[in-house]
Amino acid sequence: MIANHVTQSMNFYQGHDPRAILAAYGSPLYLYNERILRERCRHMMGLCKYPNFRVNYALKANTNLHLLAIAREEGLCVDASSPGEVMAAEAAGYTADKIMFIVNNAPSNELQFAIDRGLTVSVDSLSQLDMFGQLNPGGKICLRFNPGVGGGHHEKVVTGGDGTKFGITLEHVAQVKSLLTKHKLRLIGINHHIGSLNWGELFVEGEKALLKLAYEFENLEFIDLGGGFAIPYNKQGGEQPLDIAALGEKIDKYLYRFAEKYGKQIQFIIEPGRYVVAECGVLLGTVNAIKANGQIRYAGTDMGFSVLARPTLYDSHHDIEIYREGGAEPGPDTEIINIVGNQCESGDYIAKNRKMPQLQEGDILGVLDAGAYGYSMSSQYNLRLRPPELLIQENGELRLIRNRDTYEAVLGRM
Ligand SMILES: *Cc1c(COP(=O)(O)O)cnc(C)c1O
Repeated sequence: MIANHVTQSMNFYQGHDPRAILAAYGSPLYLYNERILRERCRHMMGLCKYPNFRVNYALKANTNLHLLAIAREEGLCVDASSPGEVMAAEAAGYTADKIMFIVNNAPSNELQFAIDRGLTVSVDSLSQLDMFGQLNPGGKICLRFNPGVGGGHHEKVVTGGDGTKFGITLEHVAQVKSLLTKHKLRLIGINHHIGSLNWGELFVEGEKALLKLAYEFENLEFIDLGGGFAIPYNKQGGEQPLDIAALGEKIDKYLYRFAEKYGKQIQFIIEPGRYVVAECGVLLGTVNAIKANGQIRYAGTDMGFSVLARPTLYDSHHDIEIYREGGAEPGPDTEIINIVGNQCESGDYIAKNRKMPQLQEGDILGVLDAGAYGYSMSSQYNLRLRPPELLIQENGELRLIRNRDTYEAVLGRM
């Protein structure tokens, strides 16, 4: 195995030395690559040939304003799920017609916030539909359904099918219709989201189920098929990327067929989050300690779950590369090790039982595919400062796009 082959094959660093970046900006930090971000945006924009097709980037995956602006330049719109996310989209230049507000259990003031801004709002329960109708009688609304198809990489990210809190289930369609009538609401769109990290088959199953439901409603302007497209988190293990062309063809087939039967070229929307941003981001951090506790070896780093929560939260795999002082090759995979963070909990790890070259104190680690649900899920737990974010721009220049937190802001002295 050639060490660090994944970033090399992507030309991720574009000539920069990750060790030098860390030396200049401190450890840990998030580093993004603009060229890769734009490529992934284009994959999604070109997924379907169906002409009235829109991509709403689920901005919870990464809310950095500079990355959001790049996605906007590439023609993406956004899904926001909170007022803060709406404000991030606005700050990155998205106009109201480009922002969809998809909420779950929102208080009425948040619905009012979206109504005041003229955003398309999607609610996902009868009670929220009733609340919206009282606030905005005669208005337009979108509904999130759960037509019974769900799946994902971990039970915590399955958002359709039985046993999830999301969406309106099909036995409530009659009640939906009577609430729409009661408040004179116009149902302009329906959506669903089956869950995260699906490789396409399930997406198409979900698409079929949602389209079947769509015939229940006349005068829809759009149908939103959700997101969750997978990325290969285990490239070092040979995992291959999603075949975008093949998936697009499968999705397209049902879109054209539906539009013909429905009698108009209705708009179709997809809502990818991680597909857009995961692979353009690497988390860089430092090995500060090596030890053996009994049989188990540990590499202790500054990348706790306050920095990257996914392994702790979902047992997620992230490929890891080693950048050793002087550019030395780390050698073959000769040890099994747990790579952990600096947080005061045993669940704090980046990789468990990982087969690695022998790690050393002072090694810099690159945790790959950290662009989605990395910084956006980071926290100040243990009063750690959230890391800075940097971008390798298309022209190769490095740019700081968010500062590290400051103690002054974090302490919140009154
Ligand atoms: C999180 C979310 C997405 C995006 O999921 P990914 O796995 O990041 O693609 C899309 N739609 C909704 C409603 C979501 O909550």
